[in-house]
Amino acid sequence: LPGDPRTDVISREVLHACYSKVSPSVEVDDPQLVAWSESVAELLDLDPKEFERPDFPLMLSGAKPLPGAMPYAQCYGGHQFGMWAGQLGDGRAITLGEVLNSKGERWELQLKGAGRTPYSRFADGLAVLRSSIREFLCSETMHCLGIPTTRALCLLTTGQDVTRDMFYDGNPKEEPGAIVCRVSQSFIRFGSYQIHASRGKEDLDIVRKLADYAIRHHFPHIESMDRSDSLSFKTGDEDDSVVDLTSNKYAAWIVEIAERTATLVARWQGVGFTHGVLNTDNMSILGQTIDYGPFGFLDAFDPSYTPNTTDLPGRRYCFANQPDIGLWNIAQFSKTLAVAQLINQKEANYAMERYGDKFMDEYQAIMSKKLGLSKYNKEVISKLLNNMSVDKVDYTNFFRLLANVKANPNTPENELLKPLKAVLLDIGKERKEAWIKWMRSYIQEVGGSEVSDEERKARMDSVNPKYILRNYLCQSAIDAAEQGDFSEVNNLIRLMKRPYEEQPGMEKYARLPPAWAYRPGVCMLSCSS
Ligand code: AMP
Ligand code: MG
Ligand code: MG
Repeated sequence: LPGDPRTDVISREVLHACYSKVSPSVEVDDPQLVAWSESVAELLDLDPKEFERPDFPLMLSGAKPLPGAMPYAQCYGGHQFGMWAGQLGDGRAITLGEVLNSKGERWELQLKGAGRTPYSRFADGLAVLRSSIREFLCSETMHCLGIPTTRALCLLTTGQDVTRDMFYDGNPKEEPGAIVCRVSQSFIRFGSYQIHASRGKEDLDIVRKLADYAIRHHFPHIESMDRSDSLSFKTGDEDDSVVDLTSNKYAAWIVEIAERTATLVARWQGVGFTHGVLNTDNMSILGQTIDYGPFGFLDAFDPSYTPNTTDLPGRRYCFANQPDIGLWNIAQFSKTLAVAQLINQKEANYAMERYGDKFMDEYQAIMSKKLGLSKYNKEVISKLLNNMSVDKVDYTNFFRLLANVKANPNTPENELLKPLKAVLLDIGKERKEAWIKWMRSYIQEVGGSEVSDEERKARMDSVNPKYILRNYLCQSAIDAAEQGDFSEVNNLIRLMKRPYEEQPGMEKYARLPPAWAYRPGVCMLSCSS
């Protein structure tokens, strides 16, 4: 529709292209900057004074063009809940452009909730305040926990209401609109490749071009790999064959992505993070946590924990399934590269094998560290997790308390569980016996090492967070923010900067969820927010 300024945001299938130029079209009444991350500003060489500029909220909501920007939305597809869903794309995310910082790093700035794009399908391109607060807080929390993630520069309210159907009662509700400015070196997903491979032979060349682009910009060590000196790896295949990762850069690439993804998932399991929607369009090629929606951190340990109500009763993306789902997603991605003839079947198999091995190595190392064990002990760890799930023990506070245990084999029976008193609630006689038995095996294991009780505690506290972004904390910050009070959002952002440290005066943020958090509808989350 020539001449119509909204032409570029009409929903459509976008063929033979990786992105579409768009103009942010969100209506902002009175955009307000309500929270920001100083450390992300630093990454961008952005002077904190800039946050005070009167036009900052206008530029970071897309209402006023950012000089030098060329806004666009990406085309991608994906498997949603195991089914191929066709074109999805950035339906409510618009990239403004990249900032090249003084270290020579490129950081992409992306607005989430800045209006419709060609990929918005039937939806409005907007984001509500509660989901935007969750994304802003959680991406910064994950970073501070040491888990790879997209970052968030700032959170703005738009001053415009957004209508949402509330999934638990089906009634439409007006909610305040908001925009998060996300930051990452790339937002390319597995689905960014899948979409082109799905469109037939003609578009396979796009798969190759986009792979070349990603390798050149984000995996330069692969681009510059010395191909004269071959590096062969034995595969687990029966025919004793080898995969040579220097002869095919795409094979080296998928293997690295598989390993990064395995490391990421292992770290999620370590802190009890459940992503909630591990569709292939929500899988970053950089191995980062991306697209925060109905995620949740475990309170009571429960392997079947499923924060996303859209995923019930199937629980495809429950806590304990994440490692398998990571592999399933790597398998889809490898298939895509194989269809485009960038890798062969052996290389695809090898990537999956590396995923499995890397995950086990990382997971075992993380769990051993959490318990303060100098070497992995399957028996001690699996018995513990079993006990924790039977007695619904808090996954965060348990490990902080475990660090106080003295490795003294002569501890009298009635004192063995004392350090864990605050998390072993209402357990009967039989369960108490099970825990005493476990504690004896634990003390025997840690007692056999050279490490002192003090040293073990220090090591354990450095990997077991004291503070975690519990759902109820998020919800309290959201409730206050919806009344115009952003102090709790900012308290949480400050608190989560140092999740492994004791912070005097902040004890209340380490408490178990209060009764209100369990009331129906209160902390319920779904895909469509
Ligand atoms: P998600 O479940 O957030 O990963 O989103 C899946 C797909 O739906 C992606 O293509 C999103 O861009 C799109 N989407 C989600 N919410 C909206 C919205 N409010 N407006 C437009 N597109 C959306
Ligand atoms: Mg998504
Ligand atoms: Mg999303």
